[in-house]
Amino acid sequence: MEEKKDRQEKGKKAEKEKKHTCSICGRPSETVICRACEDRIRGEALEHKHEIDKAGRTDSGRR
Ligand SMILES: [Zn+2]
Repeated sequence: MEEKKDRQEKGKKAEKEKKHTCSICGRPSETVICRACEDRIRGEALEHKHEIDKAGRTDSGRR
């Protein structure tokens, strides 16, 4: 009987660990990436895009 109980508790724990956390900063978040990090990434992407626009090419560094 004890084994069964242990298994149940383990299942509960696994469910708890399933909770989303930000994949960038690791903080609990409703989404894969929390808002703060999303904002930051978006800003960086925008900056990067700006740089590419400046250089006049869109396919640099990627293949
Ligand atoms: Zn984050």
